[in-house]
Amino acid sequence: MAEKILVVEDERTLRETLQYNLQRQGYEVLTASDGLQAIKVARKERPDLILLDLMLPQIDGLEVCRVLRQEMALPILMLTARVDEVDKVVGLEVGADDYMTKPFSMRELMARVKALLRRERLIREKLAAESDSDEMPDTASRAPLEYGDLTVDLARHEVSRAGEPLPLKPKEYELLAFLARHKGIVLSRDLILERVWGWSYGGGSRTVDVHVRWLREKIERDPANPERIITVRGVGYRFEG
Ligand code: CA
Repeated sequence: MAEKILVVEDERTLRETLQYNLQRQGYEVLTASDGLQAIKVARKERPDLILLDLMLPQIDGLEVCRVLRQEMALPILMLTARVDEVDKVVGLEVGADDYMTKPFSMRELMARVKALLRRERLIREKLAAESDSDEMPDTASRAPLEYGDLTVDLARHEVSRAGEPLPLKPKEYELLAFLARHKGIVLSRDLILERVWGWSYGGGSRTVDVHVRWLREKIERDPANPERIITVRGVGYRFEG
């Protein structure tokens, strides 16, 4: 089945050019020309990726991104003519997965779209394979995971550091266990939120950042310069053990 891409752009010519080029690549393309419509279409159609213009009528792209981030896990590629907004776009505040500044090359854009969709697919495949195989009984028989002086015992739900039990709040533990099981893989905030907190949770992806900060206080040698839970700019986190 073709992957579904939502193109949100108020400039008609650019919107149609994007639509044309994406369709030629075999994607199913939905379009929206303002922020409100974008949110409505995304909720109804659940696209696999959103190309989101920053400057939009009604609700701007930053707000659209914020709203959708709290509701669904999907890659968002922001299009912006404003270089001064780039930090905000890819930073913690909004958390787009990637961005391109206008004017951009169509070929480069297609490459980014493809890369984002592939990354998302790989993560989902890995997670699906895992929930089939090692989530329940196998986890229980598994040896504790060791990372230097840190031990994560998934079977006993225990974490210790240098042999001393490390008291963690339940969500801190679940977050650490989730990160540890996916060592070396970049995990987006949405995906972490979805897997650790669940879809029904209404708190938004900032929750993830807060818990990562708490965890770092407990498991990092220097929480200000983390070596275990690495921030991946504009995406999320990677556990290095
Ligand atoms: Ca615009």
